[in-house]
Amino acid sequence: MPHGVRAEMTPKHSQPAGPAASASKVSDYYGCNVFGLETMKLLLPKETYRRVQDAVERGETLDIEAANAVASAMKTWAMQKGATHYCHWFQPLTGATAEKHDAFIDLAGQGAVIETFTGQMLAQAEPDASSFPSGGLRVTFEARGYTAWDPTSPAFILENPGGATLCIPTCFVSYTGHALDTKTPLLRSIEVLNAAALSVLELFKSDARKVFSTLGAEQEYFLVDQEYFQARPDLLLAGRTLFGAASPKGQQLEDHYFGSIKDRVFAFMTDFEREAFKLGIPLKTRHNEVAPHQFECAPIFEEANVAVDHNQLVMDLLERIAARHGLAALLYEKPFAGVNGSGKHNNWSLGTDTGKNLLSPGATPQENLQFLTILTAIVKAVHDHSLLLRASIASSGNDHRLGANEAPPAIMSVFLGAQLTKVLDDLEAGVTTKGTDPMWISFGIDKIPPVLKDNTDRNRTSPFAFTGNKFEFRAVGSSANSAVPIATLNTIVANQLRETRKEISAAMKGGKAFKEAVLEVLRGQYRQSKAVCFEGNNYSEEWVRQAKKRGLPNEKTTPAALKGFSLKKSVELFAGLGVLTEEESRSRCHVLLEKYAKDISIEAKLVAEMTTTLFVPAAVDYQNRLAAAVAANKAAGIKAPAQAALLRDVIGHIEGALAGVQSLGESLAEAEGLEEASARAEAFCAEVKPWFEKIRAHVDALELLMPAAAWPVPKYREMLFLM
Ligand code: ADP
Ligand code: MG
Repeated sequence: MPHGVRAEMTPKHSQPAGPAASASKVSDYYGCNVFGLETMKLLLPKETYRRVQDAVERGETLDIEAANAVASAMKTWAMQKGATHYCHWFQPLTGATAEKHDAFIDLAGQGAVIETFTGQMLAQAEPDASSFPSGGLRVTFEARGYTAWDPTSPAFILENPGGATLCIPTCFVSYTGHALDTKTPLLRSIEVLNAAALSVLELFKSDARKVFSTLGAEQEYFLVDQEYFQARPDLLLAGRTLFGAASPKGQQLEDHYFGSIKDRVFAFMTDFEREAFKLGIPLKTRHNEVAPHQFECAPIFEEANVAVDHNQLVMDLLERIAARHGLAALLYEKPFAGVNGSGKHNNWSLGTDTGKNLLSPGATPQENLQFLTILTAIVKAVHDHSLLLRASIASSGNDHRLGANEAPPAIMSVFLGAQLTKVLDDLEAGVTTKGTDPMWISFGIDKIPPVLKDNTDRNRTSPFAFTGNKFEFRAVGSSANSAVPIATLNTIVANQLRETRKEISAAMKGGKAFKEAVLEVLRGQYRQSKAVCFEGNNYSEEWVRQAKKRGLPNEKTTPAALKGFSLKKSVELFAGLGVLTEEESRSRCHVLLEKYAKDISIEAKLVAEMTTTLFVPAAVDYQNRLAAAVAANKAAGIKAPAQAALLRDVIGHIEGALAGVQSLGESLAEAEGLEEASARAEAFCAEVKPWFEKIRAHVDALELLMPAAAWPVPKYREMLFLM
């Protein structure tokens, strides 16, 4: 915002970017920048293609000749598309994606260069990785970290103004082989889940040879004009507003949700979608969300590893394309106080290579019993590891959302819907559900309850809700890398499925017939875990009380929630299944605690600096003007007690804000002085953060007392309503 000009003036970029550049239909260019199996089939020798297919589908390693052939085809393809560089694209523990670009060129003598790209370059690289967080896994003198090609997620070309880059999805591991990223454990969890699920399916005589987790990530975000964004140091550096008096109009009229999309936003969305389609990201829906200037997009679900990569790209594209339209896309969980925050609903299920969704109630009794077995295992897994699941979505941003009015609470519970709940309750009680209700499928076998046909129940308040043929993990934050919650979910469910298999086999060894054995096991599991099931309003105080009685954890802050990762049973679970070694678990927890402390530290410095250098100087100017008016009134014998009171209010809030900054500085210094990661995080949470609200209260009060023209940053009503 230009100095001295009130932001209410229409922002510069208010004109839509114009009609779509190309009018071709999506299917004509969908995936044109992806080096997927289809492209490889066209470009690779038959035998090489077959080997790549095995690598993708069965996780077999690719030999160097095949890798060389793939690299050569990839290079030719990428260069035809204008790529001059390639990069290993990876997901370090910072939560963002990382890339280091290398040109294809190599010296060819006599001052000439040629383009090269070998199988070795494709398969492995060694970025100078000493600056990525490793939680102590990699001391800086042994800074080597390696990126290794993940052939299960296709390479793609990122086109940016000025050039194109071939990006190769990779894992990022230390010299010693420890995972330094979020993809490695995700891939491990996918493997583990596959094996565990197959071992259960085997009992049901399923013909599936592969089980994989599926993910459809609904992504919420805000858009604000870039000029406003850049004029707010808090938005720019912390991703959220640390100050700001509420706009007189917020979301109370509920007129934004599914409302018609403004031209400028629409132009951005179509541009963004076009770029996503080129990358083979199957975006399906777009709409306005509840809060002003809040939006959502959702893709068609995919295999989880690819879906996670695609969601990372979606977040990247949202920010890049928004900037091209003079907008800033905010991915932070709670950029504005008082209006809804943003989540990333992770729709998750289990699919098979035979095209079945294991969370779809089946058509036959056998399939239905299998469905109930998997469903019960998931309920049990969430029950037994609810704090771990909570830890998997913990971040300083999500702390503002969980437990706030519009988001699921910090208590992890499962919503099943009335029909399924009845099925499981009947199963537990050992009664046969009457199949008279037309909604129910009755298949007339004693003791196997009929299962619902279609679960239309919805509970928008549940953090983990069954929605007919998938679970919707709604508590995930909008900026999160879904690899973390999905790897966690895969792991706890894999673990439980292994238990299930063991229990059923044991019951059968004990002489029970198959169905009897299954029912007995399910009954026991449901009995042990139904405390985690909740059908009511998760936002209510009553639920908080009830959950406490049921012994369910309710950790509202990240430092407390992260204990879920360090619990003995969590560490053993990850290590036992080979998803994370003990050391990896410990280091991850450490990185996340440090990240939390750093987030709050940045916010603390911003609160202090903005108060001292922006708000207080503006307020003191106004105080001087008021003081002059009050003195003039007095000299002229004019009685103006309200003006005198206003002056006192202004002075009071300036003093209050400055005193707050003083105390904030002291608690910040103390917290910074702590060595141990969890004590530090706790101190930032309990001692530093509470000052933010106290200082903000004074500053926001000043905002409402002072001339709008003198307010040094864009206001909520401007950021949220002008575009
Ligand atoms: P909602 O009512 O929650 O908007 P939708 O049917 O629009 O429900 O689905 C939301 C997301 O769930 C979409 O991304 C969709 O692709 C995804 N989804 C649907 N089925 C599955 C599944 N079997 N596994 C994973 N995600 C799924
Ligand atoms: Mg949904």
